[in-house]
Amino acid sequence: MDTITRIVVVGGGTAGWMAAAVLSRELPETVSITLVESLDIGTVGVGEATIPPIVQLTRMLGIDEDALIAATGATFKLGIEFHDWGAIGERYFHPFGQFGADLDGIAFHQHWNRLREGALDDYSLNIQAARAERFTRPHDDPRHVHSRMAYALHFDAVRYAAFLREQATARGVTRITQKIVDVALDDRGFVEAVVLESGTRLEGDLFIDCSGFRGLLIEQALQTGYEDWSHWLPMDSAFAVPTPSDGRLLPYTRVLARSAGWQWRIPLQHRTGNGHVFASGFIGDDAARDDLLRQIDAEPLAEPRLLRFTAGRRRKAWNRNVVSLGLASGFLEPLESTSIHLIQQGVVTLLSMFPDKAFDQAGIDQYNRMMTAEFENVRDFIILHYHLTRRDDSDFWNHVRTMPVPDSLTQRLELYGQFGRLFLEPSELFREPSWVAVMQGQGLTPSKVDPVLAARDAAPLRTKLERMRGVIRAGADAMPLHRDYVRQGGRAQPVE
Ligand code: FAD
Repeated sequence: MDTITRIVVVGGGTAGWMAAAVLSRELPETVSITLVESLDIGTVGVGEATIPPIVQLTRMLGIDEDALIAATGATFKLGIEFHDWGAIGERYFHPFGQFGADLDGIAFHQHWNRLREGALDDYSLNIQAARAERFTRPHDDPRHVHSRMAYALHFDAVRYAAFLREQATARGVTRITQKIVDVALDDRGFVEAVVLESGTRLEGDLFIDCSGFRGLLIEQALQTGYEDWSHWLPMDSAFAVPTPSDGRLLPYTRVLARSAGWQWRIPLQHRTGNGHVFASGFIGDDAARDDLLRQIDAEPLAEPRLLRFTAGRRRKAWNRNVVSLGLASGFLEPLESTSIHLIQQGVVTLLSMFPDKAFDQAGIDQYNRMMTAEFENVRDFIILHYHLTRRDDSDFWNHVRTMPVPDSLTQRLELYGQFGRLFLEPSELFREPSWVAVMQGQGLTPSKVDPVLAARDAAPLRTKLERMRGVIRAGADAMPLHRDYVRQGGRAQPVE
């Protein structure tokens, strides 16, 4: 039989347990799944902010979201508030969900750009709710304004992996806590087995490399190669430190631009996650650490932890019989909270072209094309945040503001800056509202009105925009406070 019956997952961080949880749910019971993790090596243990597709993953795994929230100390996330990015003293919000509503088949932001009545923020339910620290889950009725809510979660990364571990082991995944000391290849160069420190050889048909930055199988054994993007994304280090929760439980992530990077603040129920992502070519470790400790508004609960990384992606996420996920497959800094999503996308895409023992190359190539596109699209969106700035107060900002960027991004900026037009590939993760939020938020406004709209009568549009603003304001006001919603386990109800 050509069917794959033995899967070995290497690594028990977020990637390893996400893969084990999904595969054990979606594949037949005849497929045995073994996960190996080294408790001595441990996990990265950060990765606390997510984006809306995480909600679908929770559903796909048959997990009760309220139980997940309770187990992981999670809060809801409506988007990200950016401070000091376009210029020092400015702030803007990148919300999940839509701005306003498209009219006559034309994107909402084009109508707004024509009249500029009200701030763009006034047309986002997520932004209005976030500013009022309110939250409710989306309403089922598409006519209800709350049907337009989109949300993600902030959760404790270590607790999330443990939660998924329980799910996966309950479905029969075998967990081995040992260090892998060797990798055996067969005569085709495929991975045949991993050798554990006890001397046991663990054979498999398909290996999922979730071993973190080291890429134990995909890189150390198969030497797949890494495409380095640090010329566009020079951030290569981060300090992470927890502080006690301030009890406010903001329903959004905050990211503050600093002289050579940025700092995050992620509210969980039991603590706040803080970190400083920085470019070590522009600021020393001690200065970066001191800057983080100065900015946090409470006593640290632990020593700041230093992490190093290189922006980029593995040249082939899938090589022979090894599929890499998580940090083993590449890294894009957490500015838009995309790493966990890329793991999700990787494992779901793997399911859609699950191989047999022949490991047909066409399927592997297709997987690699799709994951390359995912990484590149996210990369361009992140570069946008650095490049589109008026900051000239440090060598770092002068560098990123003036550096050459990918042609794809240059074209997008030109098209938006002229008539506010955006042309996205159907598979792109970040859609029009995200690009509009960041481009407008960082100071790029179209210089002209779309000619298709310019000649139309403005009066009916003015009325519609005013009504949208009113409905959105009332919709946000009707939501319960986010902290009440979380504390009542999702049972706090909106005012009708
Ligand atoms: P790891 O957590 O490193 O796990 C690797 C596993 O492999 C461990 O279990 C380890 O023991 C095992 N292993 C390694 N070698 C061996 C061996 N020889 N034998 C046995 N086992 C071995 N993502 C987001 O989506 N949102 C965020 O807000 C976010 N913030 C981040 C902030 C920072 C500073 C960093 C660095 C990353 C952040 N990420 C974020 C990314 C996120 O943390 C990772 O994508 C996620 O944790 C997945 O990590 P992993 O499982 O791939 O690797």
